[in-house]
Amino acid sequence: MEELQNKIILSSDEMPQYWYNILPDLPEPLPPPVDPSTGNPVNPSVLERIFAKECIRQEVSTQNYIPIPDEVREIYYVLGRPTPIFRARRLEKYLDTPAEIYFKREDFSPTGSHKTNTAVAQAYYLHKEGVNKVTTETGAGQWGSALSLASAFFSLETIVFMTRSSYLQKPYRRVIMELFGAKVYPSPSDQTNVGRSYLSSDPSHPGSLGIAISEALEVALGQNNAKYSLGSVLNHVLLHQTIIGLEAKRQMELIDRTPDYVVGCIGGGSNFSGIAYPFLKDRIKGSSQTRFVAVEPKAVPSTTRGKYTYDFGDSGGLTPMLKMYTVGSKFPISPIHAAGLRYHGKAPSLCLLIKNGFVENRAYHQTEAMQAGALFARLEGVIPAPETAHAIKAVIDIALEAKRKNEKKIILFNFSGHGLLDLKAYEDLLYNNLKDYEPSEELISQYISLIPKVK
Ligand SMILES: *Cc1c(COP(=O)(O)O)cnc(C)c1O
Repeated sequence: MEELQNKIILSSDEMPQYWYNILPDLPEPLPPPVDPSTGNPVNPSVLERIFAKECIRQEVSTQNYIPIPDEVREIYYVLGRPTPIFRARRLEKYLDTPAEIYFKREDFSPTGSHKTNTAVAQAYYLHKEGVNKVTTETGAGQWGSALSLASAFFSLETIVFMTRSSYLQKPYRRVIMELFGAKVYPSPSDQTNVGRSYLSSDPSHPGSLGIAISEALEVALGQNNAKYSLGSVLNHVLLHQTIIGLEAKRQMELIDRTPDYVVGCIGGGSNFSGIAYPFLKDRIKGSSQTRFVAVEPKAVPSTTRGKYTYDFGDSGGLTPMLKMYTVGSKFPISPIHAAGLRYHGKAPSLCLLIKNGFVENRAYHQTEAMQAGALFARLEGVIPAPETAHAIKAVIDIALEAKRKNEKKIILFNFSGHGLLDLKAYEDLLYNNLKDYEPSEELISQYISLIPKVK
């Protein structure tokens, strides 16, 4: 029977009751967010004006395990958690590799990606703290639709700034957000000072997550009883995503496997950290040899070609500065289909783990990634999001390396989302209309040199 087992499931009462907080286990202390004008660490109380208070407590918590509120667990359950792990046997066979390939199905969420894991938690805390309006940004619309759904469950009004390139290319995710009751603007928009300044230099500016964040922040800061919610990058977001890895760890134990590789794509770093951190705990302690591979697009090579330095989280410079790998918050990001990967920086804790050698990084072009995604779709029947396709490209390379060395490696990757609303990307692949982008050394150093020095 074991030979036939293709799907590893947990029952609802096996859903984790705690999120895993990696902060106390990091190999060195995480550099705090700093205020660019003083160079001093930002007082968490300043951040509480922007985010849910509980999220900011979690942001700096030194507690290893943080209880998931019952109300949040109930909704996780409604939305399909625990999610299954599937084995990609047909892909293994096609590659003729001795490696075993497992994928965690975060596409099972009703909005199609892992993003509901933090959206539900954040909406719950905002509601509990008496906030009645939430603003945010979105790229492909994955985060915006997840937050719109969660907000609908907790009766929050939602305003979403959606990067213009996606707003035009992916109208259906806008409809999902509107269906859940959100108001959606293409970013840069005429609703904010930041948006208007970008529009004045380029009326058809494709937008970026960095610009959309600035717009959402500007609106939240300018209104009473409104707060802002971020879909990635910050510690509390990564914390909420660890439910993925905590479930996956139990699931792999059920079939008596320890992954040799844990793989995920990185936009801000939340789905990768979500699956990886609970396994990384053992690696940091020295009790496992698992390798961790984070995959980014060559068009936005934050960790592979960027600089480890303090930079703004948004393009307008409204956020505190975060110590991370970055290509500069004003870096002009090419309009690749994997909109969720179009971000100049990455989560600070993830960057620290890359710097310390615990996490390896790779970058791929969108064409090779989409080819891997298409192959996966044909073999396994599931159409990956363009973001997820980047992880799959790395998984295939690792499985082929295992074949060359004749090693029976166990590979686990996070299937962060489905691509059913990203079919334009597959159409462009099928009709040879995909473009690859690789920024020049000069462009990268130019935008890195624009990053203000912290005092
Ligand atoms: C948003 C998104 C990503 C990238 O964001 P992370 O915070 O790095 O996880 C990856 N895959 C999908 C499907 C997404 O929606």
